[in-house]
Amino acid sequence: MARKFFVGGNFKMNGSVSSIKDIVNNLNNAKLDPSVEVVVSPSAIHLVLVRDSLRSEIGVAAQNVYDKPNGAFTGELSVSQLLDSKIDWAILGHSERRTILKEADDLVASKTKYATENGVSVIWCCGESLEEREAGKTIEVVSKQLEALKAKVTDWSKIVIAYEPIWAIGTGKVATTEQAQEVHKAIRGWLKTNVSDKVAEETRILYGGSVNEKNCAELGKQPDIDGFLVGGASLKPAFVDIINSSK
Ligand code: PEP
Repeated sequence: MARKFFVGGNFKMNGSVSSIKDIVNNLNNAKLDPSVEVVVSPSAIHLVLVRDSLRSEIGVAAQNVYDKPNGAFTGELSVSQLLDSKIDWAILGHSERRTILKEADDLVASKTKYATENGVSVIWCCGESLEEREAGKTIEVVSKQLEALKAKVTDWSKIVIAYEPIWAIGTGKVATTEQAQEVHKAIRGWLKTNVSDKVAEETRILYGGSVNEKNCAELGKQPDIDGFLVGGASLKPAFVDIINSSK
């Protein structure tokens, strides 16, 4: 089965009502490759604005979702709140949440399980630090993150994996196509060995880390790179060029 190319835009903690409306207008008026699945992820405060004004074929993702139904969890968002506002994606395990907010592998896995079992698809992020890469531990680190996910998740059909080397996020230092392809291939191999041939074949594996309109075409040609998770460049008009780069 051919994997549908996927481009996610992670706006992070950026944007005002006015600038987010500009981004939505730009996407609404753009000619987008219909064979690419696009999901954008604004800050929580802009989720409803974006969902209500963005063309319907583009998905909208929260940047976090909790692993409990509802209740006394100040600052969190629930799956049912997202679905009630027609938001059916979430980004989980982003390295900024893993490192700054100390989200551990098993909490990320637990949130991913709860979300996917209750109707929210997940862009699940993994990746190594510069120190870990330089120590030759990239595959070991990513495998450990995957191991924690596998311990909780049984249905992989609602998961898109984003490999995001931490040293490449927001730094302008993009992984080479060979570095990215090597890790993507290893992730697919891990899925084949530890989950199933079907999950390995069908799961989209995105690359994230300083993707822009200039470097995306080469990365996107790699056999195991099925799209991108884009941070900084998703706030710019050139995001459209990244979406349309797979042809
Ligand atoms: C990200 O935040 O997921 C990301 C990849 O950021 P950037 O594209 O800015 O490196």
